[in-house]
Amino acid sequence: MSELIFLGTGTSDGVPTIGCNCETCRSKDPKDKRLRSSVFYSSDNAKILIDISPDFRQQALRHNIRWIDAILLTHSHYDHIGGLDEIRSINFIMKKSMPVYGNEEALNELRERYSYIFKRTQEGGGKPQVSLHYINEKSFEINNVIIKPIKIMHGEIPILGYRIEDFAYITDASYIPENSLFELMGLNVLVINALRFEKHPTHFNLEEALKIIQILNPKKAYLTHLTHRFLYKRDKKILPKNVEFAYDGLKIKV
Ligand SMILES: [Zn+2]
Ligand SMILES: [Zn+2]
Ligand SMILES: [Zn+2]
Repeated sequence: MSELIFLGTGTSDGVPTIGCNCETCRSKDPKDKRLRSSVFYSSDNAKILIDISPDFRQQALRHNIRWIDAILLTHSHYDHIGGLDEIRSINFIMKKSMPVYGNEEALNELRERYSYIFKRTQEGGGKPQVSLHYINEKSFEINNVIIKPIKIMHGEIPILGYRIEDFAYITDASYIPENSLFELMGLNVLVINALRFEKHPTHFNLEEALKIIQILNPKKAYLTHLTHRFLYKRDKKILPKNVEFAYDGLKIKV
């Protein structure tokens, strides 16, 4: 059995949202506090971080993360890669560079945004050590754990979801191609993004996420990448029986 920790379950601006005074942003319920989305998968063989959010430092401290065998990127928007510089601490512990996996779009953009990492500069500058691994939809292995990348559309950008055995993590999807739906059949646990109630051009809203869950019919589904439009206690009641809102710190078996 492997464990999954939700390090963050918030949308790009996090919850509470700066300057907002809504019921969720004022809520005292810890389940309404959402750092930017990321999950940490750990089995006996491998510890895998999916996306490295701008809140990674806090997330790693909160869960005492000190070893990561690889980082899988869904895409290169800031809320999914903004913590990359913090990987220095893990480099220091592990004494090696961090393998980062992503598709061409994601890694090319990562190179631009973090150009200082890839430029030759003076020694001892305290730069993160990362090695980039370009992947497509072909399966690959990390310490004997088989990872199946799944092609997803985020508006017009092709991004990746990941399936590991009977668990899959999908965030920032607005459309899932038919082939990919086929590859997501028979899941025990599906994590999928649901932004808010209203429609959005580049993210599933709640209704669209529930429709995908209905098609794929996993044993259990968790919603993530949530805005402040969801108040945990009030809105969990409207979800179908096999669906829950994920929340920061939630640990599940996968
Ligand atoms: Zn995002
Ligand atoms: Zn708010
Ligand atoms: Zn995005």
